[in-house]
Amino acid sequence: MAEIGGDIDRLIQADRDRESRSINMIASGSYCPLAMRQAEGQHLVNKNASGWPGRRTMANCQEVDQIEQLAIDRAKSVFGSQAANVQALSSTLANVAVLRAIMKPGERLLSFDDRAGGHISHGTARHITSAEREVRSFGLTGDDRLDLEGARRLAKEFQPKVIVAGATSYPRAIDFRALREIADEVGALLFSDIAHVAGLVAVGLHDNPVPYSDVATTSTQKTLCGPRSGAFTFSRSEFAAAIDEAIYPGLQGPAPMQLIAARAIQLDLITKPYFASLMQAVVANGKALCEGLREAGYDLFTGGTDTHMVVVDLRDSDWEPATLVPAFGDHGITGNGIRVPRRAGDRNDAAYRFGSTAMTIRGMDEAGFRTLGRLFGRILGRGPNAGVDMGIAREIEMLALAHPVPSYVD
Ligand SMILES: *Cc1c(COP(=O)(O)O)cnc(C)c1O
Repeated sequence: MAEIGGDIDRLIQADRDRESRSINMIASGSYCPLAMRQAEGQHLVNKNASGWPGRRTMANCQEVDQIEQLAIDRAKSVFGSQAANVQALSSTLANVAVLRAIMKPGERLLSFDDRAGGHISHGTARHITSAEREVRSFGLTGDDRLDLEGARRLAKEFQPKVIVAGATSYPRAIDFRALREIADEVGALLFSDIAHVAGLVAVGLHDNPVPYSDVATTSTQKTLCGPRSGAFTFSRSEFAAAIDEAIYPGLQGPAPMQLIAARAIQLDLITKPYFASLMQAVVANGKALCEGLREAGYDLFTGGTDTHMVVVDLRDSDWEPATLVPAFGDHGITGNGIRVPRRAGDRNDAAYRFGSTAMTIRGMDEAGFRTLGRLFGRILGRGPNAGVDMGIAREIEMLALAHPVPSYVD
């Protein structure tokens, strides 16, 4: 990259240096194993292979057919589904395609509200998944838990075709089995979106809703620790052909075979013992982070976590998402300033979302996460306009440098 792309290469190296000096607490964050990065960078970037294994519109696809079929077979076996599609370019796009495949225009969708922790691609007004359909949402109870009774009441009244749920900022396990029962009571389909927790699901640390859902999707990143830009789509056999068509050619062009190769490798890696140990540590570390934040005097949204995700509740403060991001960022910490539902008497609706996956991959243990929780509490305690505390920033940098990205992912 000396003559062409040198300027971009310098920026890439600078980004890598910044990453190594900072603490990555992004809930979606992880570090992709080297084998997948290498798979995404080889000659298959040139391959044209429109269609599906055994059903291509061009010749010379024997090997890529085997690669994609392995990815499909592994996806079905790891998550226990009748059918799988591995081509979607992101989980947002998978959700768009799934809803088009299983719903007709004008039909009704019941979803977990995005402000309560659901995802924008579950039919929110500003997303294309709300087009041509009626959408209503259920949220949280007074103690910030997913409101199953509210969901049941709404389902009976609204009679949806599909119930979709999945968490993007709700740190608790979703009771997908209870949602299955509700769907059965009203004759609706259940669509489970496990984008954040799929890694935990794969190793049995979270209930696996795939076998009893009509359709399910997950991104390849987040706790699955794969590269960004990918999704797995699972379904009962009867929906498989419609979902395949809705992804390609309904929404995307021919699947990039280098990405499909990486997915096949990923679905093998996540069955190895090291991945199960990693996920156990991720969950333990999430709980340790909660303890550190509590020791620093902070409340947690929903009272704690069942997953890799930790959300500190700042509804009783002067913080705003827009002041939280630079306050943490300037101290070398990346996470997300978010809004959560405001209850009666709350001053505010601000919260800050952390995740334990990335720093667990960098080798941080429970004691380290507890220390981080206390340090984050010190930053929050200074208030929105206090600027940078160089002492805290230095401590954060030392912790980051003591936990380098390991060589098997770098
Ligand atoms: C992150 C997320 C998505 C979108 O994933 P992308 O692959 O980034 O498009 C979808 N659903 C849920 C629940 C998510 O958390």
